[in-house]
Amino acid sequence: MKREQQIEFWAGTYHGRHDGAQVTTIATATFDGTSTVPYSWTCTCGASKCFSDRWEMDTSAWQHTHPTGWARLRQWAARLLQPRS
Ligand SMILES: [Zn+2]
Repeated sequence: MKREQQIEFWAGTYHGRHDGAQVTTIATATFDGTSTVPYSWTCTCGASKCFSDRWEMDTSAWQHTHPTGWARLRQWAARLLQPRS
């Protein structure tokens, strides 16, 4: 008897905006014993991505739903990394 066991966990919901539209990204973790990229997110805009790492998935989903905030964060980080002499 063949038994396929696939367990899908809810891993997070991201609400944000991009391209002038309100979007919601649902992140899930799927464990079926075979997949090497169990983490994925799917956006209401139709985009989706798969990851092997939970942290990468979180970061990517956040970037996707907060492109402006992410750009601001990057600028802030760049200033920290390159102090004026
Ligand atoms: Zn989207």
